[in-house]
Amino acid sequence: MAELVGSEGLQHDQNTHLLIAIDGTAGAGKTTIGQMLAAKLNIPYLDTGAMYRAVTLLALQKGVPLNPPDAVRLTELARNLHFVSRDATPEEAADQRQYTVLVDGKDVSEDLRSPEVENGVSMVATIPEVRAELVERQREISRKAPGGIIMMGRDIGSVVLPEADLKIYLDASPEVRARRRSKQDAKDQEQARQNLENRDKVDSQRAVAPLVLAPGAIPIFTDHLTREEVMARVEEILDKTLKKRGFYK
Ligand code: C5P
Repeated sequence: MAELVGSEGLQHDQNTHLLIAIDGTAGAGKTTIGQMLAAKLNIPYLDTGAMYRAVTLLALQKGVPLNPPDAVRLTELARNLHFVSRDATPEEAADQRQYTVLVDGKDVSEDLRSPEVENGVSMVATIPEVRAELVERQREISRKAPGGIIMMGRDIGSVVLPEADLKIYLDASPEVRARRRSKQDAKDQEQARQNLENRDKVDSQRAVAPLVLAPGAIPIFTDHLTREEVMARVEEILDKTLKKRGFYK
């Protein structure tokens, strides 16, 4: 069972199921922060974006139309998705990878980052039936997670886990996000910026579960913060929230 230790060294009841939602714009650092926090708190994390990406990848591999999307076949892919996410091994981590995703038992971590997936995923994520399948799966994972879970996405605080104990909303300017995403040349950064902005637009404007600042979510704008500084803020907020909610003994 996970033992939670706050940054002030306080411990909470080990039987508590702690739910943390990290939402925000594309490339704002949700995965990095979620993973750092999960390691600190010794509870699992789930990057829900990887699930939408996995459905998109399967659709591309199987020739399922994305634009306009074939909602019936995409929903079937979501329903039958065989998805496993685990920490990267030290060798994999050397490759700038934060975690490894297996679909149908195959390592697809690299493929999930391909331009084809990046360009198609937001369209797939507009389909209500696809979302319903994945959201149900995400809730089930959260129910079974020992000690609780940290979930990263767009609709975690608003739809998937509205009852979350802590909701963080990460954002940064498109320029800074593109620069962090792409360490390559200016042309590459410009392409990354365009992709991030397109996805933000589709993600914020869709009818079902758009990207919003959920009620109770705390926004952190990270343009001028290092990841360690963001983590320090998150831990400070977490400590206060847990104390207020009576988590700590
Ligand atoms: O987080 P990431 O950038 O990997 O997410 C990829 C895409 O998946 C997002 O741009 C969005 O369209 C979709 N997504 C979503 N809801 C989530 C997580 C991701 O719609 N909870």
